[in-house]
Amino acid sequence: MKDAEIRLQRLEQILEISRELASMTALEPLLGKIVAVATELTDSEGASILLQDPHTGELRFHTAVGDPQLANISVPIEGSIAGTVLTSRQPLIVPDTRVEPRHYKKVGQRIGSETHSLLAVPLQIKERCIGVLEAVNRRGDRAFSQEDVETLMALAAQAAVAIENARLVEVLRKANEQLGQLDRLKSDFIAVASHELRTPLSLILLYAAVLRQRLGEAAETQLDAVQRAAMRLKSIIDTMLNLRYLETGQMDLRPTRFDLRSEVKGACEDYEALAESGGLVLRAELPDEPVSMCADQEKVRVMLDNLVANSVKFTPPGGHVRVTVCRRDDEVEVVVADTGIGIPAHELERIFDRFYQVEDHMIRRHGGMGLGLAIVKGLVELHGGRVWAESVLDQGSRFIVVLPTRAGDSSSLRSSE
Ligand code: ADP
Repeated sequence: MKDAEIRLQRLEQILEISRELASMTALEPLLGKIVAVATELTDSEGASILLQDPHTGELRFHTAVGDPQLANISVPIEGSIAGTVLTSRQPLIVPDTRVEPRHYKKVGQRIGSETHSLLAVPLQIKERCIGVLEAVNRRGDRAFSQEDVETLMALAAQAAVAIENARLVEVLRKANEQLGQLDRLKSDFIAVASHELRTPLSLILLYAAVLRQRLGEAAETQLDAVQRAAMRLKSIIDTMLNLRYLETGQMDLRPTRFDLRSEVKGACEDYEALAESGGLVLRAELPDEPVSMCADQEKVRVMLDNLVANSVKFTPPGGHVRVTVCRRDDEVEVVVADTGIGIPAHELERIFDRFYQVEDHMIRRHGGMGLGLAIVKGLVELHGGRVWAESVLDQGSRFIVVLPTRAGDSSSLRSSE
């Protein structure tokens, strides 16, 4: 084969390998692959990669073919071959290491193997050099050629990008893991705090009832206020616990058969007074025929309560909130529509995340913890249904819930595992 053909063949090989390298995101196997390919392409006895620690600046062997013991040995930047290549960013051929003063002999001594000839090229990304790729001992007693330099440089260019990507993936993976840990800590804290709050709260409610009996009408107004505040606290704690149960798959469904219209009516009646005091018209538009379904009645009511409460909360005076129910084959669709403040398009997905609120916490005009929609979504999905929002800013929002009418049948339930 002519020289030109050999070169072309090598470059084609590198192109092919670079695709494979680009798809490898785990650092160790990637480095292993690079040294194996470097050994093969330069027809050498071995190859190794040295990477510079981005924090300490130390240059250290990472992976080596032929000399696995090399891993982690560090090499001085001043006065070593690898160090020279790293700082000059130029390739270097050492035909005979015995007469090369920069050859770092300590490495050979430590691992008991000998390097005769060596070719070292920089692992470079644009202007930044992240390490050095070395091929050692050309087979057949031949010296490293200019073609070998070209080949190894081409491989190093691809390898450097792949190494950098794998490192970034690793950083992201670690950051993700830390976020997961923080999230677990937050969930555990919520669980512990809600459990701990429950006992003193029960006592407050109990003593409020005792005092009401003893004092009679004398302190009725004050005791009403205590009881209302305690009940509000109880509902916040229940919300936090519900979310916890949903997240950990501990939420059970207790399905019964019921008419969905009665739950929609109930939710609208409960928020009637609030809507009226806010100058809103709250209306349920229900079919004449019963909408029979098999689901957890209490939890369906929690979904409806949350959606109606939000619409009432986020609709300014003079507006409308309308709840419609529509049956289609074996599904029911409930739409809670309002003429309220609306939700920006890019927030529509995120509002179902835990603790997510569109309004800035510091300048919030509306109360709430940002858990209602997360619970709605969890409960809907537990029933094998789906929920989403549509909205036009400053004009209003529509929350659509679709539930299977036989959500309570075990076959149609989403596994909570
Ligand atoms: P909370 O109401 O306690 O803040 P939710 O999880 O129920 O929490 O809702 C999350 C956020 O979604 C709200 O803070 C609000 O920004 C937005 N949102 C929910 N419902 C509506 C609605 N009907 N109109 C406008 N914004 C809404």
